[in-house]
Amino acid sequence: EYILEARDVHRAFGQTQALRGASVAVRRGELLAIMGPSGSGKSTLLHCLAGIYAPNQGEVWFDGARVDTLGETKRTELRRDAFGFVFQFGQLVPELTALDNVALPLLLAKKPRRQAYAQAAPWLERLGLQEHGDHRSGELSGGQAQRVALARALVHQPRVLFADEPTGALDTLTGEAVMDLLVSTAREEGTTVVLVTHDARVAAYADREIVVRDGRAVTTPSSAVA
Ligand code: ADP
Ligand code: ADP
Repeated sequence: EYILEARDVHRAFGQTQALRGASVAVRRGELLAIMGPSGSGKSTLLHCLAGIYAPNQGEVWFDGARVDTLGETKRTELRRDAFGFVFQFGQLVPELTALDNVALPLLLAKKPRRQAYAQAAPWLERLGLQEHGDHRSGELSGGQAQRVALARALVHQPRVLFADEPTGALDTLTGEAVMDLLVSTAREEGTTVVLVTHDARVAAYADREIVVRDGRAVTTPSSAVA
C-alpha cells in the first residue's frame, strides 16, 4: 500500500544537520504535501526520497525495494525511468522549443526521434500549450513554462512526480491554474505526487500533509490545525 518510504533518514551538509531522523510513508496514488518553515529540511527530504541525495543514515524504499543503497548509476536510472520532477524554476532549456523540451527526456532515454516527438506532442495539447510548441521556452510566460515543465515531467509516465515549490515563482492565479493541471493530470495518470511547499494554499490541493520541523517529519491531522 505504500509506494515510497523514508525511514529515520539523517542527512548532513558539512556542519548543517538538514535531516535528523525523518520518516514518511507515501501511499500509492496519493498526493502528499510536505510543509514546514524555510530551512526545516523539506527539500532535502524530497531529494532523499527521489534518490538525488543518499542519506547518511536511515533507509529509503521504493516499490518494495531499498533504493538508498543503490549505486549512483542505478539511482540515476531509477530517477530517469520511474520519477518525474518539477521545480520552482530553471528546469527548461531556454534555447529549445517547448516541444523539444517535452521530448528531451525521451530522447535522453534513447527513444527514436519520431517516437519521442509523437509521444511528446499530445502532452502539449493536454496542458493547453498546442499553440506554443514551436516557441522557444525562454520566451514563454512563467505559467506557460511551468506547464511545459509539467508536460516534460509526465511525458515518460513516471510512477512518482516530485514537485518542489512548483508555483513558487508564479503569481497566485497562475499558480492555481498550474496546480489544477498538476493535480488533474496526475490523477488521470494515477501518478503518486510528493509536493514540497511552504504555502498552505498549495498544500490544500494534497490528500494529506506532513510538516517538517528541524529535520524531522511531524504528522499534523487537519483537525488539529488552528
Ligand atoms: P527547506 O526545503 O525546508 O527550505 P532544505 O532542505 O533546503 O530546507 O535545507 C535544510 C538545511 O540544509 C538548511 O540549513 C540548508 O541551508 C541546508 N542545505 C540544504 N541543501 C544543502 C546543500 N546542498 N549544501 C549545504 N547545505 C544545504
Ligand atoms: P528551498 O528552500 O526551496 O529548498 P533553496 O534556495 O534553499 O530553496 O535551495 C535550492 C537548492 O540549493 C536546493 O537543491 C538545496 O539543496 C540547495 N541548497 C540549499 N541551501 C544550500 C546551501 N547552504 N549551500 C548549498 N546548497 C544549498
